[in-house]
Amino acid sequence: MRVLKRAHSGTENSIYTRTMAVLMKKIEDTPENMKLCMQGNCSSCPSYCGKKGEGLFCARGPSKEHVKKKGCNCPQCPVWINNGLSKMYYCT
Ligand code: SF4
Ligand code: SF4
Repeated sequence: MRVLKRAHSGTENSIYTRTMAVLMKKIEDTPENMKLCMQGNCSSCPSYCGKKGEGLFCARGPSKEHVKKKGCNCPQCPVWINNGLSKMYYCT
């Protein structure tokens, strides 16, 4: 009985660990990811502030500009898809 309980708890721990790994996944701030971001994703987004050099908000954090939410292109972006992201509006 004790063995079963421990096994069950181990399974829960492993699911928890995997879930947290996905949730806490860090997107790399690389030139390749920035290029993908600027290939019609953030760069063509109606909410993009257009400030030179800004982008890849999912890795770098929010914009320094005031952003008005007018839609978000993240779900069509390869960085978003390939990294299993689920949020939107990383620039805000
Ligand atoms: S993070 Fe989303 S809302 Fe913000 S500029 Fe990029 S695509 Fe648009
Ligand atoms: S997921 Fe959004 S913020 Fe991140 S690179 Fe793609 S478009 Fe830019």
